[in-house]
Amino acid sequence: MTEFKDVIQKADWKKEKHVPVIDCPDEVPAGQNFDVQVCVGKEVAHPNTTEHHIRWISLYFKPEGAKFPFQVGRFDFTAHGESAEGPNQGPVYTHPCAVTSLKIDKPGVLLAASYCNIHGLWESSRGIKIK
Ligand code: FE
Repeated sequence: MTEFKDVIQKADWKKEKHVPVIDCPDEVPAGQNFDVQVCVGKEVAHPNTTEHHIRWISLYFKPEGAKFPFQVGRFDFTAHGESAEGPNQGPVYTHPCAVTSLKIDKPGVLLAASYCNIHGLWESSRGIKIK
């Protein structure tokens, strides 16, 4: 049986352009909003052309000791600067990056999953502590 873990890819985001990168504080005060940014192609830009692009990023929080993750963000990238002149002839391209705001009262792990329409599923995670 093929499982999601067999098809979802992981890599060093500094070398691999498909990895979703989670940027947030390492430690936050309990119950206070903080920003989380998730981007694909932070170090090595993803081409993000009209035919080849990141379709979505999903963000989850799994509190320490919890069985299930909580979905805390879903970002669908449904526009890529398509032009009447033809594929990739427009004056604008998009960069798959989103910012949201969260508050937590337990430490845990943020997990991001992303999907490239050609190169499939990718994941990353980042721990977050309470001050
Ligand atoms: Fe790709």
